[in-house]
Amino acid sequence: MHEVIIIGGGPAGLAASAYAVRKRMDALFISKGLGGRTKRQLKLPWVEDYQVAVGDETIQRFRTQLDYLDFMRVRAEVNGIERRDDGTFCVLVAEGQTYNTQTIIFATGAYGQRLGVPGEDEFELRGLCYSAMTYAPLMVDRNAVVVGDEMLALRAVAELSRIATQVILIAESDGDLDTVVGQNVLSADNVVVKRHSKVIEVKGDNYARSVVIVQEGRHQEIATDVVFIEKQLIPYSDLVLDLVDVDECGFIKVDERNRTSLPGFFAAGDVTNAMTFQVLMGLGDGEKAALTAFDYLLGLGGAEFQCE
Ligand SMILES: Cc1cc2nc3c(=O)[nH]c(=O)nc-3n(C[C@H](O)[C@H](O)[C@H](O)COP(=O)(O)OP(=O)(O)OC[C@H]3O[C@@H](n4cnc5c(N)ncnc54)[C@H](O)[C@@H]3O)c2cc1C
Repeated sequence: MHEVIIIGGGPAGLAASAYAVRKRMDALFISKGLGGRTKRQLKLPWVEDYQVAVGDETIQRFRTQLDYLDFMRVRAEVNGIERRDDGTFCVLVAEGQTYNTQTIIFATGAYGQRLGVPGEDEFELRGLCYSAMTYAPLMVDRNAVVVGDEMLALRAVAELSRIATQVILIAESDGDLDTVVGQNVLSADNVVVKRHSKVIEVKGDNYARSVVIVQEGRHQEIATDVVFIEKQLIPYSDLVLDLVDVDECGFIKVDERNRTSLPGFFAAGDVTNAMTFQVLMGLGDGEKAALTAFDYLLGLGGAEFQCE
C-alpha cells in the first residue's frame, strides 16, 4: 500500500512527485510519458529558439530528479481507479497491474479541441498552435488569426490585441461574442470579427501562412503570421467522473488546497477548474497538492473539501 500515487507526467505531476520524494513519502508515479504538454513547442519563422524560455526546459530539473528513481516510476496508462470502503484506492493500468494507495494526486492535463481540417496536422507547431496565452508576447508587429467563439477565444483575442498589429477572430457561432466581455474585447480597433465563419483549410509553406474560411457560402483566404485554435479545452477527467465533482466542462473541482470532493483524492494542473494553463502555475499546483496529501496522511485537516 503506497501513501500516494501521482498520475500524470506533466509539470503538475512531476512537481508533486518531486515534493513527495523530498518528504520521503512512499510515492508511486504513474504516467504515459514525461513532460506532458510542455514537450510541444511552437516554431515561428521570426523567433529563434534562444529568444524564448520554453516550458520543457523549466521542468527539466523536476524530471531529472525522478529519472534515477526507477523503483517509484511506472510508465503506463491508468485506465481505472476504484475507491474501497476503507477510503483507500486501487489504481489499474492498461497492462493489467493494480496498485494500492492511501491517496491520489491526479494530474492528467487537458487538450485543445482540433478543427479537423486539411493543413491542421501539417502546420501544427509550425505557425499553428493551441495556446495563445503562451505565445502572445511573441506577436509584436504581427497579424494573428484566432479560431473559436467561447471565452477561451475571447481571452486570446484580448491578449493578442495588446501586442499584435491585427487580430482576426473566426467564430463559427455567436457563442460568447455578445457577452459584456465579448463586446469589450471585440471593440478594440485592431480586432476584426468574422462571424458565422468556418475555417476549412490551413495553408502555408514551411509554416502556416493563411486560413481559408467559408462565410455565408463565400470562400475567402486570409493571410496571417500565426493561427491560434482556441476552442474549449477538454480535461482528461473521464476516469474519475464517477468519483469526484466536476464543473460543466468536466474540469475537476478543487479548493485552494487542491482537495476534491473525495477525501484522499487530490487534483492539480490543467485537469482542474483552477485554470492553471501555464507551466509555472502547474508546478506550483502540483507542489501544493503534494503538501496537502502529506497533511492528509498526518490527519492534519486534509480531508475537508471547501469548494462550494
Ligand atoms: C502547444 C502548447 C505549447 C505550450 N507551451 C507552453 C510554454 O512554453 N510555457 C508554458 O508555461 N506553458 C505552455 N503551454 C501550457 C502548458 O504546457 C500546460 O499548462 C501544462 O503542461 C499543464 O501541465 P499539467 O501537468 O497539468 O498537464 P500536462 O502537461 O497536459 O500533462 C499531463 C500528463 O498526464 C499524462 N496522462 C494523461 N492521462 C493519463 C492516464 N490515463 N494515465 C497515465 N498518464 C496520463 C500525460 O501523458 C501527461 O504526461 C503550452 C501548451 C500547448 C498546447
